[in-house]
Amino acid sequence: MHRKETYLNSLAALILAASVVTPPQPTSSIPNTETGAPKFEAGQLSTPLSGDLTTAVRAWALSRREHYGLSPAATLKSSGEFGTRFGASFHLQETVKDLEVYEAKLVVTLDAQRRVEQVSSSLQPFVRVLDGAPMTTGEAMKLAAKELPLVAMRDDGIPYGGAKAFYFRVGDDLHRGFVANVQTLDATKNWYVAIDAVTGERLFVQNRVHRAALDARVYPISPGGLDAGVGVTPTVVRELRHADGGSMIGDVCVSAAADGGFVESQNDGGQLCGTQLMMYNCCPNEGCAANGSAKRASGTLDYMGFPVKYDVAVCDRLRRASNVTNASGDFVYAPVDPPTNRTAVVASDLANSDEFAEVHSFYHVNTIYDWTRGLSGAAQPIFAGNPNIQPFKMRDERRTPAVRPAVWANAMFPNFNEILANPTCAFTPQGCVANTLLRMDNAAFFPRENFAQLPLPGFDTGADTLMIFQGNSADAAYDATVIQHEFGHGAIYATAALTFEDLAIDARSANNEGGALHEGIADYFSAAFNNVPQVGPYFGPRAAAAQPSAPGVPVDGYLRSLDNQNKCPEVLWGEVHQDGMHVAEAMWQARTTVFAGTDNGHTFDAAVYAMLVSITPNADFALVTAALAARVATAFPANPMAAAQLNEIFSQRGVINCSKVLDATAANLPRPYFGTGQSQTFRTSAVPGPMQFKVAGTAGVLRVRVTANVPPDQTGRPASTPMVALTRTGSPVTFTRSGNTLSNDSTRSTAFAGTGNVTATIDVQAPCGTDVYIALAAPGGGAVIQNVNVIAEPLVNCMVPVADAGTGGGTGTGGGSGTGGGSGAGGGTGMTEVLPGVGTGSTTVQPAAKTGCGCSSPADFAAPFLGLLTLVGLRRRRRN
Ligand SMILES: [Zn+2]
Repeated sequence: MHRKETYLNSLAALILAASVVTPPQPTSSIPNTETGAPKFEAGQLSTPLSGDLTTAVRAWALSRREHYGLSPAATLKSSGEFGTRFGASFHLQETVKDLEVYEAKLVVTLDAQRRVEQVSSSLQPFVRVLDGAPMTTGEAMKLAAKELPLVAMRDDGIPYGGAKAFYFRVGDDLHRGFVANVQTLDATKNWYVAIDAVTGERLFVQNRVHRAALDARVYPISPGGLDAGVGVTPTVVRELRHADGGSMIGDVCVSAAADGGFVESQNDGGQLCGTQLMMYNCCPNEGCAANGSAKRASGTLDYMGFPVKYDVAVCDRLRRASNVTNASGDFVYAPVDPPTNRTAVVASDLANSDEFAEVHSFYHVNTIYDWTRGLSGAAQPIFAGNPNIQPFKMRDERRTPAVRPAVWANAMFPNFNEILANPTCAFTPQGCVANTLLRMDNAAFFPRENFAQLPLPGFDTGADTLMIFQGNSADAAYDATVIQHEFGHGAIYATAALTFEDLAIDARSANNEGGALHEGIADYFSAAFNNVPQVGPYFGPRAAAAQPSAPGVPVDGYLRSLDNQNKCPEVLWGEVHQDGMHVAEAMWQARTTVFAGTDNGHTFDAAVYAMLVSITPNADFALVTAALAARVATAFPANPMAAAQLNEIFSQRGVINCSKVLDATAANLPRPYFGTGQSQTFRTSAVPGPMQFKVAGTAGVLRVRVTANVPPDQTGRPASTPMVALTRTGSPVTFTRSGNTLSNDSTRSTAFAGTGNVTATIDVQAPCGTDVYIALAAPGGGAVIQNVNVIAEPLVNCMVPVADAGTGGGTGTGGGSGTGGGSGAGGGTGMTEVLPGVGTGSTTVQPAAKTGCGCSSPADFAAPFLGLLTLVGLRRRRRN
């Protein structure tokens, strides 16, 4: 080649590059309403990247720093690569002074040609960076432990667990702080507390547990429904082998060590020490001895700042199933469920520690783990030479060194009711003692953050744990769909890491969409894996029948199914399991219709996985829909309508474009449950629930009464509610964000009167032909009412009474939100943010009949130890 020609070619390339002043435009995008920077973009966003892709993606992102709103004081750190069947997603963590900004990420997705085809962003804008006084992790742990119940203390006075420093967005600034995991004797809780090192305040308190029972809509591959069960439905023989033929059982067993590490031993006993999982069983007696006594755990508790001795019975966590000790030389064991003694845990009851539950859990977690990994295959051939781009792994397996997540069957825990019944034990020399164990009709996923943690001996496996409890009425381990749902939570943690409590707010409503997505997608994992939409034939009805029901919440025995017609706004309760149903059903509908393909929906499932690795932790319904639409467009290249068809299904269900206004008609009332999501940002503003009510005013509206039940307080006494009814005639109540304040244009704000049974009476006096809109809201959110009814009194002959007050004046406090405008803590900018609008029109088509939920009461209401929270003065809401 001639030198001159090369030169000219280069020159031409330079001129071409210079003429392309704007990068390729996205085909779909969602702006961050606060900053205007994109929080989502899809389309052909770059030319092919070259070289090491981790490096190239980071460089590309930093070159677009301004476009994506990355502060000059911040940078991006590569925090993980995820291969998919169609390309790969790269997670870039926002950092300031080498500290991570909490849940602030840019997630960049490449197609198979190494072009950027999607960007999701949760980057945080900020004005100042405040570090506060120096604070150690130990100090943060102690602060976090305050007011939490039953915190177990190490010898040095610091709680068991661990903490990690972050920068948190507080108002317009970043504050240095910590997230601390505080371990307690209550094995059903997994407390994470964020501490602001600048103010010393708590930023949030979260019980990071995902539970199934109230997901009690769980699915089959189980002993069957109430007409079947253990002893009726036959078992089948399956080999404990991965799909590639390799054994699920490894050569090495590990156990959590006191220093936070793991002790390894050879698996000479033929136990279920897995290649990718650690399996545990549990025995009421130490060592499963027939005539022994329970294993004990003892130590020191923090009791409102005072050290108190404790000594409690724990179930002995060990491995029982073995093809060495089993007489048949294999892992074939007889199923035993439920326990003979349904109220007390007695050691002679075989169901409490049966090997069948252990083997069944081990097999089913392994198979869905393998299936999920299969969804992300083909990544390495696409990006040969980029070994970081890996197929799916559970989060623990991505750690260095890798740790295997744990599965704990037949889990039981100390009977804290004994301590509850005798709270003065704290002041006795022997301390607080519990001698019996408790079962729980549930299953749960406990994430363990990758902090340097000291595990609480006897309680903590030191890794992410699928805890499958032996219940009084059924063993969750016997229903594979329960196990698959919980594994789904684990898969979400390992990929999107959706936040626990992040309110999605639009102009008409607020809802914890992250939590709802967690539940809906976990359900989808079970249904897609089994290729069966029904959930929970065995565990669901048995557990639900045994649970005490919260007032107004129906406890139904029928199965749940993703093959259903739920949609927004009817589906929304402000409860995460309920509010994820239409999302799961929309995904199932897409999988079984437009995107069924010739592989039983497997390509669609792979697109769902590609969506999960491509979104940010704060993803809401809109972002998940946009990302899934973009992923199916890539996954189904022969279908140019793929994205539009996906959007259409999600729009019909109201996952997107929902009016968030529900007609107050007999078909929709009463509402079993209405919750307002807890807000960390709007602590005093009126935070609305997931939708508003509309009373049709054809004949005018003299008065509206909203009636409801308030759940009893933690000591069982009737309670009042902080909720208010915000009303407006003629148009829905519109919410507007300004800094840390959420304001609204309601014309009246009416409190609920009474305790237990409460009523808000609003004299609206709306003339004939004028609709009335009612938004139920609570200061800072976090309130729940049940059995909600809306009763309207029409005008007589369209006559509006004139004596007292005309429309617009009336009773109530006028402005709606408590604090009006102005700045909150940390100083809002006062810049008004236009919140996302909602679907066109404010009316909704009513379903022919109300569709039931089949859920039991929310977990927190069913939790047996709620009273303990009162005992030690826990306040789940922040102080102030
Ligand atoms: Zn769940």
